Formats: sequence, C-alpha cells, structure tokens
Amino acid sequence: MTNRNLDRRGLLRTAAAATGLAATGAAGLASASPAAAATAPRRWRAGAATFRWFGTAGWRVDIGARTVLVDPYLSRYWTGLFDGALNPATKLTVDTATVDANVGRPETVLVTHSHWDHFNDVPHIATSTGARVLGTMTTYQLGLASGIPSGQLGPVKGGEVLDFGDYTVEVAGSLHSRNPGYSIGIPGVRLSLPPRPATVADLPEGDTLAYLLTVRDGPSVFFMGASDFVARNVSGMRPDIAMVAMASATTTHEYVPRLLEALGRPPVVVPVHWDNFETPLRNPPPVAPADRERLDAMITSIRRVAPRTRIVLPDYLKPYTFA
Ligand SMILES: [Zn+2]
Repeated sequence: MTNRNLDRRGLLRTAAAATGLAATGAAGLASASPAAAATAPRRWRAGAATFRWFGTAGWRVDIGARTVLVDPYLSRYWTGLFDGALNPATKLTVDTATVDANVGRPETVLVTHSHWDHFNDVPHIATSTGARVLGTMTTYQLGLASGIPSGQLGPVKGGEVLDFGDYTVEVAGSLHSRNPGYSIGIPGVRLSLPPRPATVADLPEGDTLAYLLTVRDGPSVFFMGASDFVARNVSGMRPDIAMVAMASATTTHEYVPRLLEALGRPPVVVPVHWDNFETPLRNPPPVAPADRERLDAMITSIRRVAPRTRIVLPDYLKPYTFA
C-alpha cells in the first residue's frame, strides 16, 4: 500500500479506512479491534451506497438521496450482435418506459465510451432528469448533437479527481476491447458537432475511460466499460470493489491478471458485460453459450490471481451494498 493511497483514503474515510488497512495486512499502520482483525468485517458503512446492475456495464449507484449512473443502457434492442453480425444501420431507439422506471433522479452520469450499448439512453436520461454527463470529447459532441444542453455536458480526459461532496470521481484514460482481428468495432472520434446520431454506426467508440467512484464513509469502486485498460493509469488505485468487463477475445495479454495486479487485488470483483443485452431485462441474466465459457474462464482466472477476492455475479436491478 502506497503513502499516496493512505493519504487519499485517510482523508476520505477516517475510521473505515483503519479497518480496511487491518484487513489488508498493514496492521502496523493503524490500530484495529481484535474482532475486526479476526473476522475481516465490512470495511465501510453498509448503507453508504447501494448498487444496482443494469446489465452490460451499466450501474445505478445511490448515495443517500443522490444517484450516480454509469453507462446506463436499458433499451436493449436487437442489432444482430448476438446472432453473428451487428447491423450498423440499426436505428437508435429508447425504451423510455423501462429507462424512466429504473434510473431514479440521477445527478451525474458517467460514460466510459460512446458505443450504443453505453450511450444510447444517455441523451434521454439527461434531457428528462437534468443530470450532468461526464465523458470523452466524443461523448460531449454526440451528447450535444443528441440534444443535451452544453451546460450539462462535461468533457474529461483522464487524471481528473472531481469532488461532489459525498463522493469523488477519479477519471482514468482507458482502452476499448479488441475483436479477434485485433481491431475495434465502430471505431472513431467526434471532435466537432456531428449530425444528430440516428443509427448505431453514428455512435463510434470515441476513446474509452474508466472511473473510480469513492463514496464518503463508503467503498471506492472501479468501473470499466470495455475489457482493456492502461495499467500505468490504474496502478495503485486499490478500489474496494471492481466492476470488471469480461473480455470477448484473447487479444489483450494476461488481461485479468494484469488488471487485478494493477488494482491491488480488490476484495470484491464483479464481472460485468457478460450478458446478452439484446433481451428483456429479466433475471436470471441471459448469457450466450460462447460468453458462458468466457465468463467461466474469467472467474477461474480471478480465483487463481486473487484467491481471497469475493466474486459477485450480479442479478439485474438487485440492490447490492457489497458490505
Ligand atoms: Zn464498446
């Protein structure tokens, strides 16, 4: 554990951090009760934050009365992706009833990248709730083109540490996953105002970010939306919980081991982006056969690299505290 990390956590979490340090073996640096040391209990106040998975890489996080969304995609329409070929001419549509029923009253929406399965519902959410949207410059331009007022759009690059009072958001420059041909689906950026997006091809990747959300008196949580990363950008983050995107190809060398090593083997890992997101939002989350194999391999890899890590395979919309 680095001094930088001690400082950051000490400022943000006071007593909760002491228990966490004891649980990770740094007992000499902080005192902990015998009970805490023996049972490695929860490291944060259980009610500090509640997490609900939307499928894909999407999350709703409730921090008291405040709500943060990450890559909220609930419309889940058919594009052909899970039948062997994505039709890039598929029209963008929003299932407003499902979206409105599940997003609450968000104040902040974090977007990892602007592919449709991350960004599609964001313009509707932003314009109907007034939430601010943080993302890449491409997300900013696509948001503007989709009718989000500029005052609600915040472009970020990676490196920012943003203070929202009850929580902070650290942005990390990240990477999109690659297909088996070592390329990226719907690549591209938008650095000036494009026409209003109408099809999935109008929503290019636009570079990819990851986010570390740290809740006051609560956990720090790493969110990623695609299965690659820049190790030097996330090294030393040491989140309590990591939402880790499943790799759909083996193009990234030692993806899971390198990621978990860089993050400091988080106590809780939640695999995401393994479900078939072109089906209705009903439990149990459906998994395509090939993705089931990939998910099993991912879990095996997590267990091997981080045997003390708790792996949580989430259900849709179920409230989790991970405490
Ligand atoms: Zn993507």
